[in-house]
Amino acid sequence: MRATIIHAPGDIRVENAPEPTITAPTDAVIRTVATCVCGSDLWDYRGINPVTEPHPIGHEYVGIVEEVGSDVSTVKPGQFVIGSFIASDNTCPICRAGYHTSCMHRDFPNGCQAEYIRIPLADGTLVATPEKPSEELIPSLLTLSDVMGTGWYAAKAAEVKPGSTAVVVGDGAVGLSGVIAARQLGAERIIAMSRHEPRQKLALEFGATDIVSERGEEGVARIKELTDGIGADSVLECVGTQQSMHQALLSTRPGGNVGFVGLPHDVAVDGQELFFSHVGLRGGPAPVRAFLPDLIERVFSGRINPGRVFDLTLPLDEVAEGYKAMDERRAIKALLRP
Ligand SMILES: [Zn+2]
Repeated sequence: MRATIIHAPGDIRVENAPEPTITAPTDAVIRTVATCVCGSDLWDYRGINPVTEPHPIGHEYVGIVEEVGSDVSTVKPGQFVIGSFIASDNTCPICRAGYHTSCMHRDFPNGCQAEYIRIPLADGTLVATPEKPSEELIPSLLTLSDVMGTGWYAAKAAEVKPGSTAVVVGDGAVGLSGVIAARQLGAERIIAMSRHEPRQKLALEFGATDIVSERGEEGVARIKELTDGIGADSVLECVGTQQSMHQALLSTRPGGNVGFVGLPHDVAVDGQELFFSHVGLRGGPAPVRAFLPDLIERVFSGRINPGRVFDLTLPLDEVAEGYKAMDERRAIKALLRP
């Protein structure tokens, strides 16, 4: 089969690789219908995460079940499925509490930018759609594997409620998905922080009511201006830098909440500042598995259309161009079709 291998920073290739097989009775093998490049794949591509040896890459996928292990009972060959970027059993106490990405038996599907993928813990990880989706639903369903579920978690963690004011820090695919989530959860005012015009337009289309293009201290001052000087009820931090986290904390009103889903790189939070801010802080890798049934229903019913975040579609063989376009910010997110 064809599979994407990262050899070194900036060096992404599609190569022939052995097809994955069932290695445990809880595995499934799926034939990839669509996969994509994640902002977090760029950490490897840019050499911020060291690449010590060539390895398969990619963790977002939708596909058709090809084969299942003898213990798998909830999905069967021929079904269209979506799964989380982290495999979970969906039965342990942590999963039952809704935090599947910290599952006691979690495992990591990897190498998903390929024609076939082995998914561990298939029963707990994969969710089949009620029927085979039409072509136009596939991009939106693919976002549920990571970015839309992550934006959803950011809004939940920031406790977005009907009638509330939400700020979204970050205009990547996750931040834009966070705008959709805040709208669905009933926020009345949604302030998207973005300085890129195509992303501002998409944020408005997804339900943002205001755009703030300033950053840092100036950005915080703008948020205060827009919220009667007190700050927002909920802030979704979808970047993961010191500046974005600081901006998020200072934009939140006392008693408000920050949901942070940008993978932190050198982020420190001052304990005393947090203490006196009265701000609640919750984040982590999003338990997207917990939201899959609900989000699949929202896509099928047409209430959300997060697939709009894909502004570049390429055949899998041109994956290198997908990375390059995202690295150079020419594309928000690249969808790949094997
Ligand atoms: Zn579990």
